[in-house]
Amino acid sequence: MTKFDLNLIAAQNSPKLPTEPFVARHLIDGRWCDSQDGAVFERHSPAHGVLVTRAAKAGEAETEQAIAAARKAFDDGRWSDVSGKDRATLLLKVADLIDENRERIALLETLENGKPITQAEAEIEGAADLWRYAAALARTMHGDSHNSLGKDMLGVVLKEPIGVASIITPWNFPFLIVSQKLPFALAAGCTAVVKPSELTPATTVILGELLVEAGLPAGVVNIVLGYGVPVGAMMTTHSQVDMVSFTGSTAVGKAITASCAQTLKKVSLELGGKNPQVIFPDADIDSAIDAIVFGIYFNAGECCNSGSRIIVHQDIAEEVTKKVVELSTKVPFGDPLHPDTKVGAIISPEHQEKIHGYVQSAIDAGAQASIGGGALEIEGLPGQFYGPTVLSGVTSDMPVAREEVFGPVLSVIKFRTLEEAIALVNNIEYGLSAGVWSENVHTCLEFARRAKAGTVWTNTWMDGFAEMPFGGFKESGAGRELGHYGLEEYLEVKTVQMRIGRTRSPWVQ
Ligand code: NAD
Repeated sequence: MTKFDLNLIAAQNSPKLPTEPFVARHLIDGRWCDSQDGAVFERHSPAHGVLVTRAAKAGEAETEQAIAAARKAFDDGRWSDVSGKDRATLLLKVADLIDENRERIALLETLENGKPITQAEAEIEGAADLWRYAAALARTMHGDSHNSLGKDMLGVVLKEPIGVASIITPWNFPFLIVSQKLPFALAAGCTAVVKPSELTPATTVILGELLVEAGLPAGVVNIVLGYGVPVGAMMTTHSQVDMVSFTGSTAVGKAITASCAQTLKKVSLELGGKNPQVIFPDADIDSAIDAIVFGIYFNAGECCNSGSRIIVHQDIAEEVTKKVVELSTKVPFGDPLHPDTKVGAIISPEHQEKIHGYVQSAIDAGAQASIGGGALEIEGLPGQFYGPTVLSGVTSDMPVAREEVFGPVLSVIKFRTLEEAIALVNNIEYGLSAGVWSENVHTCLEFARRAKAGTVWTNTWMDGFAEMPFGGFKESGAGRELGHYGLEEYLEVKTVQMRIGRTRSPWVQ
C-alpha cells in the first residue's frame, strides 16, 4: 500500500480542558441526588485522557425511585393535564436555554465523546430546533372525528399520552438523540425516566438543569445515571413503565424487545445500520466523492447513518476509489478542540480494537487497504484515533461489508447492473438508510422505491429535518422518530363512540 501524507491536527493545549470534573447527579422527583451507596463512575476524554465527568452510579434503588416519581407525576396529571399551549411554551423555553448554553453543552459533548467541537456545536443547535418543532406538535396534535357512522352515532378518536416512557440513549450523539425523544414525549404529555450512556452522561444532566430552570414540574423528567444493567434493564422490565424508547445497538435492542414482551410494553427502537451509497456511471462523480468521504468519516464513522459501504459500478470503481483515497488524505483528523478538525477520537480503546478487528479480518480474507488500516498517532494526544480507511476488493459476504464497524472504515463493492446493485443493497439484515448517485431521475426513483431502508437519499447523503421521519426497516429498528410520526410513538389511541338520542335497540327484549 502507498504511504500517504494525512492532514493531522496536533494537540492544542487548550484552556478549555477541564481542571475539575463535571459532577453529574441523578435528577429524581425534582431533586438532584447521589446514589444511596455513594457509588460513582468516571469518564475520561477519549482524545486527551483527562477526567471530564464524575457521575453518580445508580443501582436498583435509584431506578425504582425514578420510575415511581415518573409514575406519580403522570397519574396525578401535573403534566398530562397541562394544555398543549402551555406545554409548547415550556418546550420553547427549553430550546432558548439550549441555545444560551450551546457552548457549555458542546464542550462537554466533545470532551466526553471525542467528536470535533464545531460538530458538537452544530449538534446542539440542531437539538434546540427539535425542541421547537416538538413545541409546534404539542399545539397542533389532534385525533379524528367520524361523522358518517349513522344519524345516531358520533365517533371520536382521542390521542392520549401513553404514560411513563423509559428513554435510553447511546454515546454517539448524546444530546441530539435525547432531543429526538424527550421533547416529543413531553409534547404528548408523557412523563419520563431518562438514562444516557455511561460513556456520555454529562450533557443529559445539563439538559435536566435546563428543564428545571424552564419550570418543568418535579417528577415529569427523571434522569438516572448508570449502566445498562441494572438501570437500563430495570427501565425495560418494570411494570410501572408504559413504553421504552431506545437508541443503541441491535443486540441490546433485541434484548430490550424480549424484556418488554414480559409486560407487553410498547417499544420503539432506533438501531444499527450498514448503509450503502450506490454510484452509477452517470453520477456527478465529484459530488458523490465528497458525500462518500463525509458519509464515512463524519463522527469518526461512529454514526448509525454512516455510509459504510459504497456499491460502485465496475466501470468507475477504480476512478471512484482513487478519488475517495485522495480526498481522504485532506480530511483533518486530530484534536477535537481545534476548530478545523473534522474527525476526532474513537470513543474507547475497546472500540478501537473492534474496528481494527474488522479491518484485519477483511484483509485476511483478501481485501486490500487502499489507504489506512490502522491506528493514528496524533502529536500530543494520548487517546485513540483510527486512520481514514478504504478497503477495496471487499465481497458482500465479509463481516466488514455486512456488520456495523462504527469507525472510519469504508468498504468498496462493485456492481454491473441495477438489479445487482439493488440485491447488494437489500441482501443484508439492516435497513436504516441508503443512497443513490445518478443524473437519471428514473434510476433514482426506481432505487428509492426498491431500497429496503427507512431513509433514501438521492444525490445527497445524511440530510435530515425535524419534519422528516427517521427510523429503520428490518433489524435497524421499529417505530419512527421526528416528524409527526415521532409524536405518535408516545400516544395511545382511544376510540369514543357516542350515541345521540335514546335510539339503541335493547339486546334483551
Ligand atoms: P448500546 O446498545 O451498547 O447502548 C445503548 C444504551 O443502552 C446505553 O445507554 C446502555 O447503557 C444501554 N444498555 C446497555 N445494555 C442494556 C440493557 N441490557 N438494557 C437496557 N439498556 C441497556 O449502544 P452504544 O454502543 O451506546 O451506541 C452505538 C449503537 O447505537 C450503534 O449500534 C448505533 O448504530 C446505534 N445508534 C442508532 C441510531 C439510530 O437512530 N438508528 C442512532 C445512534 C446510534
